Amino acid sequence: MKDWVKINFLKDRKAAKDEAEHISSLIANSLYPAKFTMPLTLQFELTSRCNVHCKHCYNVSGEDNAKIDAMTPERWKDFAKYLVNHGGIFQCIISGGEPLLLGDDLFGIMDILHDDGTSFLVISNGLLMTQEKAKRFAKYRYKWFQVSIDGASRERHDEFRQRKGSWDAAVKAVFMLVNLGIPVTVAHTVTPESLHEVDAMCGLAYSLGASGIILGEVMPSGRSYMNSEIMLSHEQRNILHEAIMRNMQKYAGRMQVQRSSGTKIQLLRAMGTPNAGAIIRPNGDIRLDCVAPFVMGNVISEDFCEVWKTKASGVWSRPEILEYVNSWEDVEEINHGRRNYL
Ligand code: SF4
Repeated sequence: MKDWVKINFLKDRKAAKDEAEHISSLIANSLYPAKFTMPLTLQFELTSRCNVHCKHCYNVSGEDNAKIDAMTPERWKDFAKYLVNHGGIFQCIISGGEPLLLGDDLFGIMDILHDDGTSFLVISNGLLMTQEKAKRFAKYRYKWFQVSIDGASRERHDEFRQRKGSWDAAVKAVFMLVNLGIPVTVAHTVTPESLHEVDAMCGLAYSLGASGIILGEVMPSGRSYMNSEIMLSHEQRNILHEAIMRNMQKYAGRMQVQRSSGTKIQLLRAMGTPNAGAIIRPNGDIRLDCVAPFVMGNVISEDFCEVWKTKASGVWSRPEILEYVNSWEDVEEINHGRRNYL
């Protein structure tokens, strides 16, 4: 078998380089902003609480569900209003933990941004979805609504997410959302145990009416460090890449089959554009992205726009960030842990 992992990495790296050069030339000709005065996209990690306990969770959600997050629903609403009053954002990624645990407050937060024209990418495990909630979700604009399904069979998914009944709920959630015209993407994390199920997973997503499926291996971050048996070997990654390419061809024009790019590529792509986004964590931290563990400030103790103005512009070319990105190996990604804050 060809080394598809390496071939795809080189292809992705070239695409990231071409994209960066293209944007640089647009900036040089004043056709693209050299910096964004407000982020285009912000990810709201609305809660650290979760109702499942996935073996790979990148931010270790659900470890202490009794804990009250510093970013209470009221603080999130105030922050959403603040963003609207300062020019607004183009897109908001809603995640957690499990965002549906916020109940009515979730819709309250989304409404504030929706009324200002923001569109959404919601990431949920689907466990709390009901017909009534799905109907409420139907009013928003979406990049997509993402539901995670980590096995073509309920046994595999429930074991990986460590909660019985979670597969049935996720499958039902996809079905309810699709039936209301919401574009749903299924996220599927592939482990050595589920590697042989890629074709079946794509078939399941297609039969549920999903508009896309994203397949990828476990990100080396958070809880996956405690579960090394869920990581793929290089040989298994090659089998995965081949299976994804096969399914890309099979579903071309009917359902978008995507492979998630590796960490190094994600970082290289972010570096090639002016900083356009950040993550707000349940403790209020303004973090660079979900992989690079750099924190620019905190929305509870600092003025967000001031932090954005003074720290976000050119952030990806700072020496400590460059050192961090370069320290990721090209093909085999390595265990990193946390780094210095900005
Ligand atoms: S559903 Fe998402 S947030 Fe919750 S434990 Fe799983 S990966 Fe983490």
